[in-house]
Amino acid sequence: MIISTLILLSALVLSLNVLFRVKLLHRTWHTPNGYSVTCILSRLSNVYLVRGNGITVLVDTGLASRRAKLLKRLRHYGVERIDYLLLTHAHFDHVGNAAYVQQAYGAQVVVHRAEAELLASGQSAPFVPATRLWRLLLRSARNFAPAFEPCAPNLQFDTSLTLPGTHISLHHTPGHTPGSASVLVDGTALLTGDALLGIFNFSINNPFAISAEDMRNSWKTLATLGARVLLPGHGSLKRPAHLRRALRRAR
Ligand SMILES: [Zn+2]
Ligand SMILES: [Zn+2]
Repeated sequence: MIISTLILLSALVLSLNVLFRVKLLHRTWHTPNGYSVTCILSRLSNVYLVRGNGITVLVDTGLASRRAKLLKRLRHYGVERIDYLLLTHAHFDHVGNAAYVQQAYGAQVVVHRAEAELLASGQSAPFVPATRLWRLLLRSARNFAPAFEPCAPNLQFDTSLTLPGTHISLHHTPGHTPGSASVLVDGTALLTGDALLGIFNFSINNPFAISAEDMRNSWKTLATLGARVLLPGHGSLKRPAHLRRALRRAR
């Protein structure tokens, strides 16, 4: 009885989250120095288009199975050429179309040094459950690391990298995977990949982390970047208050 009530309550909380979640698809944020950030793919994993000052940037590419939809959305937004493709990490659901975008749109592919080899060999970074509880719940996910079309990156970075002549920078935010990165656009929007999740109302925790401690330290890094809006790789947007709350809980 108690268990079924708990299950029912959890289902209710989750469905409320789905009902009230802010729809990201086609939503655009503008920054003081003339950049726009638009979510152009949002089911399963999010893809963002960043434009301004004559530059076009794509952040992540989604699953290979969603390629037709991605191309349709790029056409919808009149994108014919992409200057940079920034990859938050080498998981198949974020880099599934990286090789295609590099080739078809002439994009320079940027990834953190720790994931460059995985990307070039088409191997997903390992999915490691973050806690003992998640290890139990996600037992079937063990050895789950689907392959994808290999993509040789054009640029790699270590701690951070500002794209030349822009207000767009990449920051190393490890924890989910060793080379996870977040993208800051003009001090306003922070595209976090899987360094934090937008799926749950009550938590930004990612159940997968190669190091839960690194992930918490990366939240501190994200907090210092001072963005107004946090745009995760999955789920809906988060605010700096969510980040502050998560940091307080992690203490
Ligand atoms: Zn991931
Ligand atoms: Zn992901």
